[in-house]
Amino acid sequence: MFESRCGVCCNSCERRNTVNCQGCLAMEKPFWGGECKVKSCCEGKQLNHCGECPVFPCATLSSMGKDYGYDSAPLIETCKKWASNK
Ligand code: SF4
Ligand code: SF4
Repeated sequence: MFESRCGVCCNSCERRNTVNCQGCLAMEKPFWGGECKVKSCCEGKQLNHCGECPVFPCATLSSMGKDYGYDSAPLIETCKKWASNK
């Protein structure tokens, strides 16, 4: 079962309840004060998650969070797993 558009596992987030976050799938603009390009793109294509996209893993997804030192590789792997489980 997918938990986000990008591969983040929202259900495992320890802060989720503390900050009363509904998770990526339920979140509506402006998300956390801004817009998530991945969520917007994925939902614009009416896909459940990026793993269903014909151009997966695109540059937007692959570079997500890079400026902040995050590695997108685990998210991409999670999306692949979700795509193969359907
Ligand atoms: S980065 Fe975007 S797509 Fe990923 S969990 Fe957060 S809001 Fe959803
Ligand atoms: S893989 Fe890239 S192009 Fe495809 S839905 Fe995700 S963000 Fe959009």
